[in-house]
Amino acid sequence: MNGRSAVADANAAPPACTAKVPAMSLPAPQPHAVSRLRSQRLARSSKPFMARGGPRGERCAGCRLQPSHCMCALRPLLPVDAGFCLLMADIEPLKPSNTGWLVADVVADTFAFGWARTEVDPALLGLLADPQWQPYLVFPADAAAAGRVVSDVLVAESPAKNTADLKKRPLFVLLDATWPEARKMFRKSPYLDHLPVLSLQGEQLSKYRLRRSQRDEHFCTSEIAALCLALAGEALAAQTLEAYLDVFTSHYLLAKQQLPADMDDAAHHRLRALRSAEPAAANKLPRQPTTIER
Ligand SMILES: [Zn+2]
Repeated sequence: MNGRSAVADANAAPPACTAKVPAMSLPAPQPHAVSRLRSQRLARSSKPFMARGGPRGERCAGCRLQPSHCMCALRPLLPVDAGFCLLMADIEPLKPSNTGWLVADVVADTFAFGWARTEVDPALLGLLADPQWQPYLVFPADAAAAGRVVSDVLVAESPAKNTADLKKRPLFVLLDATWPEARKMFRKSPYLDHLPVLSLQGEQLSKYRLRRSQRDEHFCTSEIAALCLALAGEALAAQTLEAYLDVFTSHYLLAKQQLPADMDDAAHHRLRALRSAEPAAANKLPRQPTTIER
């Protein structure tokens, strides 16, 4: 890890793109935590990473898409109280389809760390011990001892036993990996053993599946993050992240099929409608990212 802050000030700067788009003169965006992790991982690679089936050729550094399908200008700026800590399996930051990237786009306080069985980044331990945060390890209940499992998030409106807990901001720890990898990470990360395990309830998942016509048994990282935001009472951010994922999926698939981006499809309309709701609903400026020392 380098000496820089672990958190991007992604929301401090207007969204911009390194793609060659005419008449755009926005400053280059600060890379967010997942982007920086990707750069560090690429620097360690001895050979170039070839994404299976992904679009080839030049990629925008801001959104990983081909410049013709760049969606940097659509990146939402939202005030979000919750934070995310992405623990990423080795190859995950390199995948152009990784959706932890989208979480970092939308939520300013998104931290990202590479996972290794034999070592842990001291900055991760520092983050988990930071008293401003209440970390929750998001994982299915069946993998954890019953005493660790919680199904709710403490937010300001909750009737809490300990008022000190209310002042803490929820920090959702997500294991960003394939399922077999995530289960291994869960078992072999003793520094996570003290955290409450936030288990998303079957009812929440099936409602979500129905609403989004989700057929796959497993959810991607940004879908899990949207469910966490909803639990934390951040409904606008949750819906925005869902719409933003749909826009990304649309751009990604059309680029793969060598078809032009459709800026007028249902996903774009939904994201635009949510973004126009932002000032009234949020009524405050986007939160400045927190910094932690490395
Ligand atoms: Zn872009």
